[in-house]
Amino acid sequence: MHQQRFLALQKAISKNSAHLNSTSQVPSEPISHYFGSHSFGLGNMREKLSKEAYQDLLWSLDHGKKLSKDTADAIALVVKDWSVNQGATHFCHWFQPMTGLTAEKHDAFVSIHHSHHSELSVIEKFTSSQLIQGEPDASSFPNGGMRSTFEARGYTAWDPSSPLFILEDGNTKTLCIPCVFFGYHGQALDMKTPLLRSTEVISQKACEFLKLLGDIDVKRVNCTLGAEQEYFLIDKNFISLRPDIYMTGRSLLGATTARGQQFEDHYFGAIPTRVKNFMADAEKELFQLGIPVKTRHNEVAPSQFELAPIFEDLNIAVDHNVLTMETLRRVALKHGLICLLHEKPFAGVNGSGKHCNWSIANDKGENLLEPGSTPHQNLRFLAILAVILNAVYRHADILRASIASAGNDHRLGANEAPPAIISVFLGGLLDDILESIEHKRELKASAKEIIDLGISKIPDVSKDYTDRNRTSPFAFTGNKFEFRAVGSSANPSYPMMILNAAVSEAFDIASKELKPMLVNSDRDEAILNWVRSSIQNSKTIRFAGNGYSDDWKLEAKKRGLPIASNSVEAFKFFGDHDRVKFLLDLKVLSKEELESHHHIFVEKYNKSIELEAKVLLDMAQTIVAPQIERHLSKKIQLLGAISQLSARTQELYQADLEKDQQLVQNLLPAISELTLAIQTIENTENIFAKAESIMKALKPAIDSLRDSCDQIELRLSDESWSIPKYREMLLSHSLT
Ligand code: ADP
Ligand code: MG
Repeated sequence: MHQQRFLALQKAISKNSAHLNSTSQVPSEPISHYFGSHSFGLGNMREKLSKEAYQDLLWSLDHGKKLSKDTADAIALVVKDWSVNQGATHFCHWFQPMTGLTAEKHDAFVSIHHSHHSELSVIEKFTSSQLIQGEPDASSFPNGGMRSTFEARGYTAWDPSSPLFILEDGNTKTLCIPCVFFGYHGQALDMKTPLLRSTEVISQKACEFLKLLGDIDVKRVNCTLGAEQEYFLIDKNFISLRPDIYMTGRSLLGATTARGQQFEDHYFGAIPTRVKNFMADAEKELFQLGIPVKTRHNEVAPSQFELAPIFEDLNIAVDHNVLTMETLRRVALKHGLICLLHEKPFAGVNGSGKHCNWSIANDKGENLLEPGSTPHQNLRFLAILAVILNAVYRHADILRASIASAGNDHRLGANEAPPAIISVFLGGLLDDILESIEHKRELKASAKEIIDLGISKIPDVSKDYTDRNRTSPFAFTGNKFEFRAVGSSANPSYPMMILNAAVSEAFDIASKELKPMLVNSDRDEAILNWVRSSIQNSKTIRFAGNGYSDDWKLEAKKRGLPIASNSVEAFKFFGDHDRVKFLLDLKVLSKEELESHHHIFVEKYNKSIELEAKVLLDMAQTIVAPQIERHLSKKIQLLGAISQLSARTQELYQADLEKDQQLVQNLLPAISELTLAIQTIENTENIFAKAESIMKALKPAIDSLRDSCDQIELRLSDESWSIPKYREMLLSHSLT
């Protein structure tokens, strides 16, 4: 076996075994003792601030108004004291630029005084303006062309609705201040600003509608998110020999293993000890940060795992998901593991997603998607369900575009993840209920036990929805919707913002339609009539069948649903004025912001694939080609010396040599073809033309070069192949 590979495997296995005996570093205290110890949220503010200052903070949060100078000063003081006590030396404005990752710029908590005799004295200092606003240089963040019309200045501003936290890394402790990031004229340069706008709009539009339903005292509606995060864990020793994985996050070559996931034995199987130790360590940090992670288990593919938190307020849940991804990566390194968040790190086994469980709750904390126990709650539930169906029906195209990325293209529609066509799955029971409302039919006995729609006595809707459809991209799961098409590495902010906006518009439409229907008629009757007409209108978005089947593609086309089978197609929706108008009308995004996002997404897509092409080309030329050449020359030598062998044996060796030569005849032209395709891409200026060319020429060239590399891997003697194989990376856990 190749020396390097062999050593990597040996090291990985000994690391696995070492962890079998190591005692975990997880605190022995109960979780509740240290939960949130590294975060500073409203609860801490209430404890530490004067009553007046705290009330003032709540008031400005509720009204979206600026904090008074006095309150801001008081907050800065308690935050500084808390942070310095915890050992933090620096603070940073923590924000989410359009790259989808986070950005931070650190400053020390010190201020230096020059005394009269020019002696320096240092004190810990943190002012309210340092808390509230910062001015990082915006010019190196992607802005999709917005910078040409505006100055390069960007500002960060504290988002007081999300808790502050202290990030511990190595020997450093830094206070992180969750922030929005915007330009000189107030244009959003980040993911959070539009998300916050969308939560405001949905609250306003939902309240208007709820008032028509009779909930007259509702003042606010909050969105909730629980984001299930999937990821792979691979030993670092392997990754160090895989430039493709450490540079692009995924393997660009590698023959699939004989043992993939066909035994379906990994899912919910026992978690390897080393991985459990990693999980416990990561969870400890997440708990300290106040992130309520709850579930951990194996996923379908070997070496694939999942972590799910308890849902939280949407804005906080997004911050926490981003922080979770960073924590997983960081803690994995401590354990000699690499956490891969890419949507498709390995061909031939499942990729990773991020199921976004989303719901809305009123200010009493009632989940509006929870079928209730009173007739009023049930009618409200059905009305809101109708609103959401209409939202997805009207904006399936932009929802599709919001989850598009180079990584997610490998997943969507690949018989393992939801199809690329957006539809809604409700489950048999709800489908029955909606059918009977639509056709004014008596409910079937089974449904009747659950819901009795004899208008005056509206029913108890069951909470137990056991039927699941894994092929649906947007499914109702009992008391929430699960947007499953989101990619594992994505910042969930963007799709959630689009979903909020779509639902806001649908609430608005619903209010406008319902209002006149309420005049001079029984309210419940009118609401049910509205539900009937609304679900009729949006009916084509509902689909309960197999989303993987080819029939569905035809059927979806017939139904007129938007179909974009890849990201390049999907991004085009952003450029279509009619499709994005609702975002502008609701003021969730401005025209300029939308255009810049469109650019940023396409550019990011182009750059990712261009990088993959270059890395693959490099590996093919500098690693794979020399190995097959060495192999060939050895074989030719051998053939020269075997004239003593029987004619039959010689014949067989000759045939074998033919096969090896065929490998070279595939590889070298594939290398030239990819080289050419890369040149074409590099010479294309326009990003949209570049994306088209990537789809048409670059991706096929990548695929065919990969294919010939994989064939070589399968034919070469084990000792002449230097790149860690899939079986080693994915399955060596089972050796300990
Ligand atoms: P399931 O059995 O459908 O997977 P779970 O209760 O395990 O349901 O929840 C899966 C995810 O959905 C968790 O992250 C959970 O916190 C989240 N979730 C549950 N209720 C809500 C809600 N009302 N809003 C948002 N997310 C929710
Ligand atoms: Mg899951």
